[in-house]
Amino acid sequence: MIEFINVSKQFREGIWWGQKKNVQALHDISLQIKEGTCFAIVGESGSGKSTLGKLLIGLEKPDTGQIMFQGSNLHEADRQKRQLLRRDMQIVFQDCYSAVNPRMKIKDVIAEPMRVHFQYSAAEIKEKVKQLLEAVGLDEEAGEQYSHQFSGGQLQRITIARAISIQPKVIVLDEVINSLDVLVQISILKLLKRLQHELNLTYLFISHDLHAVKLFADEVAILDKGEIVDCAHQVKHFDKLTHPASRRLIEAQLPIVPQLAKEEYPVKKGLYVS
Ligand code: ADP
Ligand code: MG
Repeated sequence: MIEFINVSKQFREGIWWGQKKNVQALHDISLQIKEGTCFAIVGESGSGKSTLGKLLIGLEKPDTGQIMFQGSNLHEADRQKRQLLRRDMQIVFQDCYSAVNPRMKIKDVIAEPMRVHFQYSAAEIKEKVKQLLEAVGLDEEAGEQYSHQFSGGQLQRITIARAISIQPKVIVLDEVINSLDVLVQISILKLLKRLQHELNLTYLFISHDLHAVKLFADEVAILDKGEIVDCAHQVKHFDKLTHPASRRLIEAQLPIVPQLAKEEYPVKKGLYVS
């Protein structure tokens, strides 16, 4: 469904003190993500994970190489096609507080992408916001509040509701649980898992938390200094990876094992049909 073919990306850094140098954020990345699966990208800070996610959703352009989505080259499609492709891809960031406008009511935060991409009536939007809040485990009243009134976990539910509001096919999850405490992390992962099944979503799950990756992802690739140095097509083989960068990550794991219970929620189909 998604394919990166020899993708490279450089940034020019250091303009503040006059001396520019090129940073090779990604080098010759090739990977494939199958529809309906969760593909994890793991790597140390600065290894290029976020850049990879931004390239996929079109926030950055590759210098060389191609990114294919359902047979189309994401960065070569014409404007109209690109806008449609954009609608299919959403991103959720780690820092949910800065991802939400503090002066907007939550109902407007959630409705914003729908207003951009669809011509819904006010009544339709109202109904959809209600359904979306319910889908992520929040009450309808939450819509009347502002972001500062919520905890990090609740706010992350809100950004997830916003991401699924326009029925994307792919969601980039960029360290979405890393600033939350452990029990909240688990509840967010459960929510994301349930939504993935209900809405047939494909995830690019960016993380440096190997426990979460093992519980949550299907496949995993290790990114080190902008290159994919290792990958496990089945996440259960993850601990057997041998590249030094993989070993570093595996050996740095904390020995906690909270189990992500399988489907505690009833799976409800048809969120998008109303
Ligand atoms: P990660 O998400 O794994 O921490 P990033 O993708 O954010 O890594 O960054 C990879 C490298 O690219 C880093 O060296 C970072 O400083 C550099 N980089 C990322 N974005 C930019 C940018 N917009 N301008 C300049 N350098 C950047
Ligand atoms: Mg990052």
